[in-house]
Amino acid sequence: MEELQASLQPRGLTLSTFPDKGRSLLAARDFYPGEVIISQEPYVCVPNNSLTESRCDGCFSKSNLKKCSACHVVWYCGSSCQKLEWKLHRLECQLLAKLDKERRKSVTPTIRMMVKLYLRRKLQNENVIPVTAMDNYNLVEALVSHMSDIDEKQLLLYAQMANLVNLILQLPNIDIKEIAENFSKFACNAHTICDSELRSLGTGLYPVISIINHSCLPNAVLVFEGRLAVVRAVQHIPKDSEVSISYVETAASTITRQKTLKEQYLFTCICVRCNKLGQYDDIQESAILEGYRCRDNGCSGFLLRESDEKGFVCQQCGLIRNKEEIRKIASDIKALSDKALKCSSSGNLQEAIVLYKNIEKLQKEVCHPFSIILMRTWEKLLEILMQLEEWKEALAICRLTIPVYERVYPGFHPLLGLQYYSCGKLEWLLGETDDAIKSFTKAVDILRITHGTSTPFMKELLMKLEEARVEASFKLSSREDS
Ligand SMILES: [Zn+2]
Ligand SMILES: [Zn+2]
Ligand SMILES: [Zn+2]
Ligand SMILES: [Zn+2]
Repeated sequence: MEELQASLQPRGLTLSTFPDKGRSLLAARDFYPGEVIISQEPYVCVPNNSLTESRCDGCFSKSNLKKCSACHVVWYCGSSCQKLEWKLHRLECQLLAKLDKERRKSVTPTIRMMVKLYLRRKLQNENVIPVTAMDNYNLVEALVSHMSDIDEKQLLLYAQMANLVNLILQLPNIDIKEIAENFSKFACNAHTICDSELRSLGTGLYPVISIINHSCLPNAVLVFEGRLAVVRAVQHIPKDSEVSISYVETAASTITRQKTLKEQYLFTCICVRCNKLGQYDDIQESAILEGYRCRDNGCSGFLLRESDEKGFVCQQCGLIRNKEEIRKIASDIKALSDKALKCSSSGNLQEAIVLYKNIEKLQKEVCHPFSIILMRTWEKLLEILMQLEEWKEALAICRLTIPVYERVYPGFHPLLGLQYYSCGKLEWLLGETDDAIKSFTKAVDILRITHGTSTPFMKELLMKLEEARVEASFKLSSREDS
């Protein structure tokens, strides 16, 4: 780790170890919103390929794909990506080509990532691929695996997967237990690689980025530029404080966030938000996010369960909502949701829209106006309306989500910026130029901090804002002329 420490120092970073959360990344100087704290190429990565969707192994693009003619497993968008990957894929290709057809089908992205991990280690040991302070297998070895916290069933699964990897690799002196442990390391440390709009493309292992701990109120954000992981500050991070990102969706009650973190990452969060668990303002926040609304539509109070368990009491006006009434609506929503999900996944979008609108109506009766449950329904409606090119309705829904997003994603959060961007694109399309300028400006204010300004995605957004401004001034001047 000394080597890594030395290479982090000129970047204004330092490593430290705390008893309650292990290795941590600290700021050795002040960082300001929008500043890149650290970036890293993956040690290994794979696209999320499935039977229905394939992406290029080099750049994760979906267009102009050609299958590798030797192994028939890996896809490339062109010769430059193939060349980029060749040193590693040459070895992998030979191994995959040897497998029979049935076995080849069992090579999931996770299995492939493990095969690539061992091949890359081999190539670095043989000096075919250079070793640097931020790119070496020792960093993978140092990652946490939480093996002692994993249940029997999961251990068995990892052992089976390790056997398959061993069978593919056919390397001498390989330790199957170590492969199994590495699967657990993947589960706790690998990152989902997303595009600029946060759609998942693949998975990668970034051993230095993995040192950054989680907080439910993080001071930094992780985004990807291609497969390069980039961490930017979203708040002022004073010298000597810890850099944190969020591993999970932060728009959730403390209990939900803690449950997700425990299940997926096997630790209990002790961040400033989680430390409030059980305190009055945390109870209030959870009740707003995931609980019920007051019977009086004009009241914005939140509800808590009555001590005799018969109903829920509004904490503002004291009105009681009957438990049975809520239970009935909740079960109606559940039934509709099951149907709606089936419709949307089978492509019956018109029917899905009707169902989601009914769900929205019922949820408005029971959920707090700032409920994230209602927010998820709006997101679903928005997604389907966009597919159906129902722009006007899509814009109306998008606008409904903004105040909820503003509340649950405070400060510089990529999701808030992206939502403003969607809003702006719809307004622009519908000729509402002045509103589009406002939305694009909001989007730029947030996304230039989280995404920087140099990527093609940001250049496009900045260009759209410019175009909208030009159109607005043109409209204004032609109005003055007439
Ligand atoms: Zn490519
Ligand atoms: Zn191949
Ligand atoms: Zn937390
Ligand atoms: Zn009330």
